[in-house]
Amino acid sequence: MSKKNNKPQFTKLSELGEFEVINHITKDFLVKNPSTVYGIGDDAAVMDFKNKQVVISSDMLVEGIHFNLSYVPLKHLGYKSVVANLSDIYSMNAICSQVTVNIAVSNRFTLESLEELYFGINAACKKYGVDLVGGDTTSSNKGLIISISAIGALDLKSIVKRSGAKKNDLIVVSGDLGSAYMGLQILEREKEVFKVNPGNQPDLSKYKYLIQRQLKPEARKDIIDYFESIKLIPTSMIDISDGLSSEIIHICKNSKVGCDLYEDKIPMSEELMSSCEEFNLNSTTVALSGGEDYELLFTIDQKDFEKIKNSPDFSVIGHITDQKKGINLVTKAKQKITITSQGWKSF
Ligand code: ADP
Ligand code: MG
Repeated sequence: MSKKNNKPQFTKLSELGEFEVINHITKDFLVKNPSTVYGIGDDAAVMDFKNKQVVISSDMLVEGIHFNLSYVPLKHLGYKSVVANLSDIYSMNAICSQVTVNIAVSNRFTLESLEELYFGINAACKKYGVDLVGGDTTSSNKGLIISISAIGALDLKSIVKRSGAKKNDLIVVSGDLGSAYMGLQILEREKEVFKVNPGNQPDLSKYKYLIQRQLKPEARKDIIDYFESIKLIPTSMIDISDGLSSEIIHICKNSKVGCDLYEDKIPMSEELMSSCEEFNLNSTTVALSGGEDYELLFTIDQKDFEKIKNSPDFSVIGHITDQKKGINLVTKAKQKITITSQGWKSF
């Protein structure tokens, strides 16, 4: 962005050709992985995974449906779009090494706004050691659409699927749950306040953790690396993108088992609990149904409990039962209730 007469000048995408736009937004990306043979610049990228198996996962994000640019800065959106894809690769117990990024943009977007988006994409690529190896750039009638594919590799003997949970396995979750959803509630509330009183600068400092969980989530590559270091292979795993309740249902249905989850074991941050009080929401409901935490939910054989019991990153929240026992939450009052999938959109 150049400044003339102190007014920011923006560059319309139509002033540049498509190739110039692509060159410009991808020029700061460096290839780091030996598995990337050819990256950006030809008709297709080439990868070599030697004798490993290839894992691939894609996601599409549409403005107005999956994100709202009135409170999500573009660089955060870029970062989060990559993180969400990496999380799907990690949840297979695989390592991600490449991404491709497809974008469709309306004429409302300038070169500078794409620079911001790609700054965030690059930050995530650097942090997680992933190469951007290609993509496509096109126009849309309205708004922004981003579609990312993440590519990685694994040894088939260490693959972890949703379908491997066995009776008596322990159910474990990383990190804490619900905070990303509350971060979104706070951003939405502040946006409404701002509409009524644009001069009002909100003090969001006490919600810092929640907003960070919403705007700049991280994928748990550290946990996949840790599993490798302690030689632990979970029996099943899924990442928590839609909420604990819908993810545990996926595991149970795919594994043909039931489960008991204990309400008092579900990990929550201090900030989540105090903001739930303020918003008059039940923190368990938020932790069960709020999405976008990108934590890992997995099951382990009981004999592996020793390997994880001293890690502060993990909470054992329940155990696997027979399918006929159903998918249950044991409440703090020791009542058993059936867990139903709400997904986070129906909130
Ligand atoms: P083609 O006409 O064969 O589709 P493009 O001109 O669209 O090729 O792309 C040229 C190169 O730039 C390719 O390597 C492609 O993967 C890459 N590329 C295009 N758009 C993007 C993007 N938005 N992000 C990253 N790489 C891109
Ligand atoms: Mg193309």
